[in-house]
Amino acid sequence: MKLVFSGIMIPVSTIDWYGRSASVIFFNGCNFKCLYCSNNRFIEVSNRLEPLFKGGAVVDIEELEKHIIHAKSFISAVVFSGGEPTTQYDALEHLSKFAKKQGLLVGVETNGYYPERLSELIRQKLLDKIFLDIKAPLDDSHKYSFITGGKEDAAERVLQSLNLKGIALEVRTTVFRSLVSVSEIARFLADKDCTYVLQQGIPENAPDDKIRKEKPLSGEELINLARSISFLKDVRIRTKEKGEERII
Ligand code: SF4
Repeated sequence: MKLVFSGIMIPVSTIDWYGRSASVIFFNGCNFKCLYCSNNRFIEVSNRLEPLFKGGAVVDIEELEKHIIHAKSFISAVVFSGGEPTTQYDALEHLSKFAKKQGLLVGVETNGYYPERLSELIRQKLLDKIFLDIKAPLDDSHKYSFITGGKEDAAERVLQSLNLKGIALEVRTTVFRSLVSVSEIARFLADKDCTYVLQQGIPENAPDDKIRKEKPLSGEELINLARSISFLKDVRIRTKEKGEERII
């Protein structure tokens, strides 16, 4: 089996899955084109077997298996990221099975557009945690579509992913000054047993000209935003300077 691989794997990360040491494998390709995507090198391919950037390659999936084996003594989990890992579902399922056979936990960082694919991984007990990126209020399909590059049904599909049962969940929002809607997003998490992480957006990497000119939110501004949603049980911020901090 082939995988369109970004060429990037972090053998040992303690950031992507808080409290665990995990390898992170970045798939190539994404079905969204977010205004602020800092991974914009990853977003051009979807369902095409073509590496589109330096270091990217179509690889045999065994290559990734070797990476996992090499890192195995130092990790307890593997996180599949991207791009959007669910766009290459067969490879994702295969690698999740492989990681499970090695006794590792499996997490997926996802934009949530394919709830049925996540659900299938849960059904097969191949997934231990979803890291779900929510970009706008889930009752605002217009804003969701605007941010993600024109996917009219994105908000509805992400809501289905948020409502999947039987899986640990962390929700993340990358926050930019012109796109702040944290309290409106947080309303959808009020009855969820999940962590909510506000990530500091990095405007300088955004493809959108206007966003690129914005000042990033400071740590203090993010802390204030986190405090404004104190009706949630567990709210954190993640900044370039200090990494992850629990605020509530
Ligand atoms: S979902 Fe993530 S990887 Fe895909 S375009 Fe948006 S920010 Fe980039």
